[in-house]
Amino acid sequence: MASTKTDLLTVVEPAPDRRPDLLGLTRPNLEALLDRVGVGRKHAKRVFRGLHGRRLPLHAIPDLGRHAAVIADATRQASVTVESSQRSDDGTEKLVFRMADGARVEGVLIPMRAGRVTLCVSSQVGCAMACRFCATGTMGLSRGLEAGEIVAQVHAAIERVAASGDQLRNIVFMGMGEPLHHYPATRDAVRILRDDAGPCFKARHITVSTVGVVPKMRQFARDFDGRVQLALSLHAGTDATRQAIIPLAARYDMAALRRACLDHPLPGTRKLMIEYVVLPGVNDGEAEIDALAEWTRDLPCLVNLIPFNPFVGAPFRAPTAAEVTRVGAQLRGRRVPHSIRWPRGRGVAGACGQLALEGVAAN
Ligand code: SAH
Repeated sequence: MASTKTDLLTVVEPAPDRRPDLLGLTRPNLEALLDRVGVGRKHAKRVFRGLHGRRLPLHAIPDLGRHAAVIADATRQASVTVESSQRSDDGTEKLVFRMADGARVEGVLIPMRAGRVTLCVSSQVGCAMACRFCATGTMGLSRGLEAGEIVAQVHAAIERVAASGDQLRNIVFMGMGEPLHHYPATRDAVRILRDDAGPCFKARHITVSTVGVVPKMRQFARDFDGRVQLALSLHAGTDATRQAIIPLAARYDMAALRRACLDHPLPGTRKLMIEYVVLPGVNDGEAEIDALAEWTRDLPCLVNLIPFNPFVGAPFRAPTAAEVTRVGAQLRGRRVPHSIRWPRGRGVAGACGQLALEGVAAN
């Protein structure tokens, strides 16, 4: 505690807690910490399994004895709670997660086939990228989430999904924020989520979506050998159009993005995912689609067409279903593999690009 003495009163300000967040420690980092505090790395797997595999609080992990108190002293255990939830008619559920400091982010649970559920997770409170078609972009960035705060969202989602007898199968970093603008936390969270003593998600069941931070795309490729699914939010075929809707496009052009994608290792039958928000009159013309087809040439990828989801004040309109299928037909004509991701969760503003915490200040 830092205290400042004045004549009349003593102002006591809590010092920032610089201890590492226990849930954000990868297994090697946990081993190093346990060595440092004298507990010994031989306990790391058991602690990790307790925390991440069984989602137990530290004191409930069996047979830790006095070590539990030592570990508790050396770390923080930030809590993430589900503050509210809203279910859409299509079964999609939007969650508001509250961090220990009161910051809020949103997540979306999306039921897939056979009781399997996908979680759309947030990596930042708000976002600095300011893409013109994205509601989160209008908020600006408050802060990045720590790895432990990302992992804790997943823990909360696992519990919630299991309570209804389903299984959380996929994690997509497509909630609030740009995961590669905040890479170390994203990387550590992915490492923890994949750990076989932890939640043990398969690499191909984790997707990190980026607006195209090229150096970090390359870093991500190196760190995960291309095993964790990469999605690139491309949204245009030409630099002119991309720059008109994505400020970051001024920094990394289509050629640089294409080189990073061509260099991205793709084990087995893996493909890159290319996201393309359909903005009628902006990025759906013949010339644009020609350029997109050319850009994807020789790149093992699947173009995901996402109909633009409108939000209040958005400078674009939603495409009609016919306008979206027309883009699909244009791609088919050019032999570009694609699929259409019809929106889900619109009823609760939980669809792509609609996550902006209406009426709730993210503090
Ligand atoms: N920052 C990351 C991840 C968050 S957005 C990224 O840009 O990829 C997840 C996906 O939703 C991205 O492909 C994004 O471009 C798309 N998206 C954003 N706003 C949208 C909107 N209003 N309608 C449809 N998709 C949108």
